[in-house]
Amino acid sequence: MTILVTGGAGYIGSHCVQQLLAAGQKVCVIDNLSRGHRAAVPSQASFFQLDLSETDELIDVMKSQRIEKVIHFAALAYVGESVENPLPYYANNTAGTLSLLQAMRQSRVSQIVFSSTCATYGIPETIPVTEESAQSPINPYGWSKLFIEQILTDCAHSYPNFGFIGLRYFNVAGCAINGSLGEDHSPETHLIPNCLNTALGKQSHVTILGNDYPTADGTCIRDYIHVEDICQAHLLALNALTPQANRFYNVGLSSGFSVLDVVQTTEQVTGRAIPIEYQARRPGDPPVLSASHEKITRELGWSPRHTSLTEIIESAWNWFQKHPDGYQSKGPAASSSESGEN
Ligand code: UDP
Repeated sequence: MTILVTGGAGYIGSHCVQQLLAAGQKVCVIDNLSRGHRAAVPSQASFFQLDLSETDELIDVMKSQRIEKVIHFAALAYVGESVENPLPYYANNTAGTLSLLQAMRQSRVSQIVFSSTCATYGIPETIPVTEESAQSPINPYGWSKLFIEQILTDCAHSYPNFGFIGLRYFNVAGCAINGSLGEDHSPETHLIPNCLNTALGKQSHVTILGNDYPTADGTCIRDYIHVEDICQAHLLALNALTPQANRFYNVGLSSGFSVLDVVQTTEQVTGRAIPIEYQARRPGDPPVLSASHEKITRELGWSPRHTSLTEIIESAWNWFQKHPDGYQSKGPAASSSESGEN
């Protein structure tokens, strides 16, 4: 059985490919490399540079590679960018996923694990958020994913063999514990990488986007989860897929850390001062997000291994120090791009 991983050259996708290979799965990656890194794809995986919109080419890959199941990561995922420029979010995340689903249907591939997001909840009425909480996004990124949740639900209702599991991510962070894979976004907007880049001296300070939120220190609270724990949830979901599977799970730690908590923890981990500057709120940011993960723990047996913010940031600091220029840096990570190209 071969698993198709869309977005397998991206941050979370590449870590998941590594775990799938370690579990003995055959893996085929597609990625348009608009934001991913060819060097992040392990050489044991086959690779095709494709965009989600290329339905016919997707069908060719699904048939030639004998794909049985899909894990769908490929997406644009910046809240702020989605507010400034929503159309690429709907084109890539919503229309792109429709193209993928059409290709699956024509290739008789009927099971998919889908990356959804806590951004579908908008401003939650209760914390921690359960899967039954109302979904009312406050940014186009969240809407672009919620539309797909509905489409998947309709497909599972109408097509007898179709099954899906949707994972609603909270704030994924950290890098591979073995140091082999990392986080390298361009542009970089995420809080922990910005703190680490400041610790490395690559930027002068971290901008705190709003300190007038209704939280104890006035900055937003998020639920940070280690990238390898979120990948573990995908492997469990993959095994739990059945025809007619139609389930959504939150994947977070139920913990909440403010932006200032993250800055202070990064200072402790790196031993370096991280200057901050305050700016206005970023449009589309809810004040507090944290997940109840009771459902995925109960139903799939998910049990996160890296549960302290310090440990999460340490794993990222380890990679950032060794790869100050991300995947462009000279080092072991760059070598995996040399073979396995299709
Ligand atoms: N944030 C910030 N400064 C930054 C980047 C992020 O204050 O340089 C805040 C952001 O407003 C949010 C939190 O940190 O409240 C986490 O943002 P991030 O972009 O890391 O993840 P998101 O929550 O958007 O998925």
